[in-house]
Amino acid sequence: MSFFNTIKTENICLEFQNLNHDVKIYMKREDLIHPIISGNKFRKLKYNLKELKKNKNSLLITFGGAFSNHLLAVAYLGKIEGIKTLAIVRGEELKDYKLNTTLQKCCDFGMKFEFVTREKYRERNTNKYNYELQNKFKNAYIVPEGGTNRLGVKGCEEILSKYDKEFFDVVCVPVGSGGTFSGLINSSLEKQKILGFSALNNSNISEVINKFAKKDNWKLFDESFFGGYAKFNNELINFINNFYERHNIRLDSIYNAKMILRIIDLINNNNWIFGKNILIINTGGTQSVVGINELLKKKGCETINY
Ligand SMILES: *Cc1c(COP(=O)(O)O)cnc(C)c1O
Repeated sequence: MSFFNTIKTENICLEFQNLNHDVKIYMKREDLIHPIISGNKFRKLKYNLKELKKNKNSLLITFGGAFSNHLLAVAYLGKIEGIKTLAIVRGEELKDYKLNTTLQKCCDFGMKFEFVTREKYRERNTNKYNYELQNKFKNAYIVPEGGTNRLGVKGCEEILSKYDKEFFDVVCVPVGSGGTFSGLINSSLEKQKILGFSALNNSNISEVINKFAKKDNWKLFDESFFGGYAKFNNELINFINNFYERHNIRLDSIYNAKMILRIIDLINNNNWIFGKNILIINTGGTQSVVGINELLKKKGCETINY
């Protein structure tokens, strides 16, 4: 499909004030790939969509939480490709509430939902649950949470260009389910280091990386830096707002802003041992900001204003 053949993202050099070292930081603007199918979700769905079409499946089933960029990407893809989509959503309690902005948009694109308990959701990667779904929904193509399967990783192996592999000492990426990180590792050169910055406390992340990544030139930082998944404070929000003013680039608050703050922290505290030419992958995901601002407002915190 031509839609997936038109990706080209650029790298830009970022100038940071108050950086203690003579490192050069570049950003790959994967966030610009598409306004709705953001960054890495586009990469991860590319070959899954091809496979679905090859199999002539009529329904795409996938999994996600209430703010999931992945669910929105799948819903939109379903709409433009004429494929039915069903999301298994974490949190049975959600079915009694008005849908949040992300899920409402998914719904507008025609996605259907099945809300399950957190307990049930934990089984999402088991064969048992997948058989159960295959039985219930005949001719369905099942994509795991975040789009992370073999074909998703294959798509992410296309992120780095030949130039990126030769020029950069180190590539940094936020990590959720680990698919993007694995794809980057596979396509990197041995002499490069791939750094992952976990946004969530994902206990099976090393399992995913062991399963998909074919090299060991990587290091994973845990999610604790900003207090865990979807934890925000004014420092983070101010950083996002200042970054937008200075660079005219929107950073999402769950993945990319936290990663960049962590990188700056490592550099300024003399803990950066990974080389001078740094490439940051901006994975996009700014659609979540509307819902997140609602939460921030309720708490009386600063809000993201881009
Ligand atoms: C999903 C997502 C990630 C995490 O990607 P994984 O392949 O699941 O690790 C990072 N950034 C954004 C913006 C995302 O939506």
